[in-house]
Amino acid sequence: MKTWREECAVVGVWNQNEAARLAYLGLFAMQHRGQESAGVVSLYENEHIHHKGLGLVEDVFSEGDLVRLKGKAAIGHARYSTTGQNLLTNAQPLTAQLYNGPVAIAHNGNIVNADELRTKLKIEGSIFQGTNDTEILLHLLAKNPSSDLIEALKESVNQLDGAFSFVVMSHNKLVAIRDSYGFRPLVLGKKLNEEKTYTYVLASETCALDLLGAQYVREIEPGEIFWLDDTGEHSIYFASTRSRQARCIFEHVYFARPDSVVFGQSVYESRKNFGKVLALENQVEADIVVPVPDSGVPAAIGYSSQSGIPFELGIIRNHYVGRTFIQPHQSIRSFGVKIKLNPQSAILTGKRVIVIDDSLVRGTTSKKIIGLVRAAGAKEVHMRIAAPPTIGPCFYGVDTPIKSQLIASHQSIEEIKKFIDADSLAYLSMEGLMYAMKATKKNFCAACFDGDYPTPLYNHKLN
Ligand code: AMP
Repeated sequence: MKTWREECAVVGVWNQNEAARLAYLGLFAMQHRGQESAGVVSLYENEHIHHKGLGLVEDVFSEGDLVRLKGKAAIGHARYSTTGQNLLTNAQPLTAQLYNGPVAIAHNGNIVNADELRTKLKIEGSIFQGTNDTEILLHLLAKNPSSDLIEALKESVNQLDGAFSFVVMSHNKLVAIRDSYGFRPLVLGKKLNEEKTYTYVLASETCALDLLGAQYVREIEPGEIFWLDDTGEHSIYFASTRSRQARCIFEHVYFARPDSVVFGQSVYESRKNFGKVLALENQVEADIVVPVPDSGVPAAIGYSSQSGIPFELGIIRNHYVGRTFIQPHQSIRSFGVKIKLNPQSAILTGKRVIVIDDSLVRGTTSKKIIGLVRAAGAKEVHMRIAAPPTIGPCFYGVDTPIKSQLIASHQSIEEIKKFIDADSLAYLSMEGLMYAMKATKKNFCAACFDGDYPTPLYNHKLN
């Protein structure tokens, strides 16, 4: 069975005229979390209206679609899948008509025991439409005898292991659920509307709340089911608090937008601190600090301020090219670096340059960038990575390749330095990463850096 790894955005809007329009805007703010498909489902007179499609949010929705998506509640989803097979059946929100009415689900994360559950459900007679793990929750709900959606959700999500931040909408409720490890973010915001009542917004990242003019209230807690209905807001816990929580450190390293507050901490500040600690741990004499834009910029600012070495935008990015990782093939990926990044000879010629990036995965990007920086005239190139070496794949929703493609899993730092053709190479240490986050390993999942997976892996293979 193919594994669908999801890097997604979810959004929910409750009690707002033109709720679908807000959900659409929320997805716009979170487009970086997934560019392959987008969808919105609205709630109108106890029924659901849906629209979803393949492509970017701006390509998927027309003005006419948004007019058709009537109602005062809506959920939305933007999705990135990694298998190359990009099917509309896997686009979300997923919808179904159950015994008690319509249900729509949008999911961020990856359920690690999905194959086991899917097989069991198929043996029991469930017919699956697509191949993504989110559909499992629909089938578990469909089979649950309780007529109370919250009760059915509680029993269903207790069977899931792994990463899930869900927004779920029925004919009369908007529900948010976060797995008990807290892998993926999910936040609640509120704003006063024209009717002088509160509009509620649920979103993967606070940058969506900012765009919608909603005040950040709090995170949905790990193990919590939070819901809104005509009687107001409610909350229960489907699981007790774990002593080992597992917020994804990679959200802070790379994935989230820097202007978001994730797990209660500013992503921009974390990245700046990664750079500062990196400078403390790995000193090198140089003339300028140059970020790989945009992902390396906050860390380079931190590195420069800590080391006193001037910050320069020595590499300029073409903003009309998407992230290189959208391209599925290695050959296209390395070409993508050239389309996207242009080193400036006027800044780099004759200089000893420290190049900062947020992470090094396969090493292809760094190799290409160092080649371009040298060709632009740099005298020395010192690569500094604002995260520890990536040694393990992610099974919880970030697209990391299998172990054999992770260069640091089988090569020493010296070997990687040679491969990328740097004069020196250094990474942030694991201790430095946690110190910069003011966190302990007890609260975070850093399995991509230390191989310590917080859940069983079931049938998932490292390679
Ligand atoms: P590479 O070492 O060539 O595989 O790519 C490393 C680059 O990809 C870095 O510049 C990161 O900013 C970026 N990156 C790291 N992790 C991911 C990911 N999960 N998805 C997309 N891009 C990533």
